[in-house]
Amino acid sequence: MRAAKKVISKANLRYNLDVLSSLAPQSKCVAVVKANAYGSEAEKVFEALSDADLLAVAEIGEAIKIRQAGAKKTILLLEGVFEASELEIAINENFEPVVATFQQLQWLLDLVPSFSRVWFKLDTGMGRLGFQAEDADKAMQQLLTRYHQGNVVIMTHFSDADNPNREKTRQQIACFDEFAAKYPHCEQSLCGSAGILAYPEAHRDYIRPGIALYGASPFKGNYGEDHDLKSVMTLKTAVLSVKSFKKGDPIGYGEAYRLQNDGTIAICEIGYADGYSRFIPNGTPIRINGNEYKVAGRVAMDMIAVLVDNKVKPGDEVICWGERLPIERVCEYAQTIPHQLLTTVTERPRKVIEDD
Ligand SMILES: *Cc1c(COP(=O)(O)O)cnc(C)c1O
Repeated sequence: MRAAKKVISKANLRYNLDVLSSLAPQSKCVAVVKANAYGSEAEKVFEALSDADLLAVAEIGEAIKIRQAGAKKTILLLEGVFEASELEIAINENFEPVVATFQQLQWLLDLVPSFSRVWFKLDTGMGRLGFQAEDADKAMQQLLTRYHQGNVVIMTHFSDADNPNREKTRQQIACFDEFAAKYPHCEQSLCGSAGILAYPEAHRDYIRPGIALYGASPFKGNYGEDHDLKSVMTLKTAVLSVKSFKKGDPIGYGEAYRLQNDGTIAICEIGYADGYSRFIPNGTPIRINGNEYKVAGRVAMDMIAVLVDNKVKPGDEVICWGERLPIERVCEYAQTIPHQLLTTVTERPRKVIEDD
């Protein structure tokens, strides 16, 4: 059997939730499990998030799967509903909608039963979903014809909380506060992972951690472990073959790599069809048997080549990222963020869920 596998640590997920909740002890916690828990198998790991107050997903289909898998918690729909009929399902299943457009607001007002809580999204400068300052009062007034402030959470999302220049986030917080001051009985929620770690003044009633739950840092230039987080997903495989080559020999597609000296190449059982991205370039770090080596040449669909030494043998364990190889390091080479590599691991690697 091919060795490629995605190993998920529920214990580390539970641990990270605990770390993040302790950073915001006054806040309730919405654990974000969209995109299949950032690739970490939402339906199999939600139990590790039992200390969270709510779960959150991007759309109702994700929420239904998690509910069918046995999750009892309230599930927040971060983008709200995409059609009116989803509201009835939502109310029956104890999902709570975000209201971010006038269309969604109208659907909500047309629905006869009421939700016990709805989330009102303010666009404070993300430039994506939510009511902009000039429309927000009108929208809120309409919402308050049916809902009490005490049943409404005002939320926003930061565009730059991971940026060392703090000006933009400060402006977003100020914009939020100016609006929210008019609705003093509404609860408040501003922070995803970066906000939780960098803006304690914005923790408020609910924090919404995503990437940090899975052990990766939301900031460029440091790692999850710098924030006492542990990686949840380890992408692993094994060495399939080991061969010696001469200086100048080409390796892989396009002869994109040539050995600079006589050397040894290990072919490993993982490729872009597993989610080890083709954007991961020559020279990216990878671990074999506890030692670090470098990817050689282009990632292929099912295999990669790694420049190794004579210690490496067929069958040896290969760690692409995760345990003892922070995914952030791979991201530096692939010029992407952990969110993207984690969520694009495909169905092909075997899934191993480690119980806590
Ligand atoms: C995805 C998402 C989050 C979590 O973001 P991270 O940066 O992964 O922590 C929080 N809030 C909203 C609205 C989101 O869409």
